[in-house]
Amino acid sequence: MTGLPTSRLRDLPSVDRVLRTSRAAAAVERFGQQSTTRAIRDALEEARAACRAGAEVPAPSDLAADALVRLKAAERPSLRPVFNLTGTVLHTNLGRALIAGEASEAMRAAMGEAVALEFDIRTGRRGERDDHLRTLICGLTGAEDATVVNNNAAAVLLVLNTLSLGREAVVSRGELIEIGGSFRMPDIMTRAGAKLVEIGTTNRTHPRDYLSAIGPSTGVVFKVHTSNYRIDGFTAEVSARELAAIARERGVPLIHDLGSGTLIDLAQYGLTHEPTVGEAIADGADLVTFSGDKLLGGPQAGLIVGRKDLLDEVNRNPMKRALRLDKLRLAALEATLKLYRNPDRLAERLPTLRLLARSAVDIAAQARRLAPLFSNILGDEFAVDVVECRSQVGSGALPLDTLPSGGLAISPQSGSGQALETLAAALRALPVPVIGRIEKQALVLDLRCLEDEAGMVANLASFSPGGGGAVV
Ligand SMILES: *Cc1c(COP(=O)(O)O)cnc(C)c1O
Repeated sequence: MTGLPTSRLRDLPSVDRVLRTSRAAAAVERFGQQSTTRAIRDALEEARAACRAGAEVPAPSDLAADALVRLKAAERPSLRPVFNLTGTVLHTNLGRALIAGEASEAMRAAMGEAVALEFDIRTGRRGERDDHLRTLICGLTGAEDATVVNNNAAAVLLVLNTLSLGREAVVSRGELIEIGGSFRMPDIMTRAGAKLVEIGTTNRTHPRDYLSAIGPSTGVVFKVHTSNYRIDGFTAEVSARELAAIARERGVPLIHDLGSGTLIDLAQYGLTHEPTVGEAIADGADLVTFSGDKLLGGPQAGLIVGRKDLLDEVNRNPMKRALRLDKLRLAALEATLKLYRNPDRLAERLPTLRLLARSAVDIAAQARRLAPLFSNILGDEFAVDVVECRSQVGSGALPLDTLPSGGLAISPQSGSGQALETLAAALRALPVPVIGRIEKQALVLDLRCLEDEAGMVANLASFSPGGGGAVV
């Protein structure tokens, strides 16, 4: 018995022997000599351990096949598409807005060709990157001027650094929010070089609080749309319009960070009205900042709109260069914004809006179509129920407004939490990982964001209960 494993180990083929198989030759052709050799070594390493544990010695061509699987797995992009069935449409960890076909097309064109990024084709002179978007953004928001940067966090940082470096930024205590672990309003304000002047209380801030705080060393009055939480009960907030009047009277700019910042009234799509950028401008904010990849439905970006004299200062800030947008996202943003010029077709062309506006009836019908399929692949161990559920907008937008939706609740017949985790892992191991949410002893798949139903059906054909992770 004891001699057996050793003799088996001796029978393992050499790297060279495996390399001479036709499968390895095909692998070399596709992945190169060096990577293939490394993959064969890894395959041999694992085979050696398996043999020690009593497994049969694999044939050279089996080892080559194993190496090929490893090479293919390593080649698969790390940033892979997934099915977002979490029920959160703008899921920050899953990449927020899906951009429109028009936007990806514009991006692709800008990627492979030289573009007139900072070049005025008419005059042949140097142009400005903001020229591509300024007219468009101003037209959609009623603002005088506009610029774009990396994201809204950058927009806030840049504006505060420009207008309140070494000066005071007056902000209500009720608006000092945290947006995801690493972005806290007070921290970003401090890092921007502003001296934070907190006024009012968590639940109530009055005009007199602003009036007594604004003085000769005030750089800006800062208002934050507390998009990701709401205080109810005994509350008081100074409206944007009222605050604009106070700031104007005192000669200090009012900066309004809208966060999600929608360009249109969402009420027409059955969602709760969220203050639009146009409204914030009309209410008298001097500068408004908002995200490109939240409700706007475009690429990651931060938009700054408002008074031209202030934007001139913002653009002169050397930090602007470090925060500016690249040509790909400029192209995508331009194409996205252009969709807004035809509001009638917006809900059809802009994926974020299309998903948010999807009717619960439509989603429920899809759930009924897919239930038997899931039931079939999951077998007797799981119950698959068509359920009503609630989706969320996500990214801090409209936090308390959930949308009626539908989906599948999958629960293990023998009620163990471990079975649910294993199931969730098996769905994540599919060629296109399926991400749901675990809720009350069930894995819930909210189908609001499932547009590619045929893709899902094809994907499920690779399901293996252990989550073997079929590599195609
Ligand atoms: C989301 C958000 C931000 C940050 O925007 P990013 O585009 O994620 O950088 C800033 N302020 C508010 C109020 C937000 O909701």
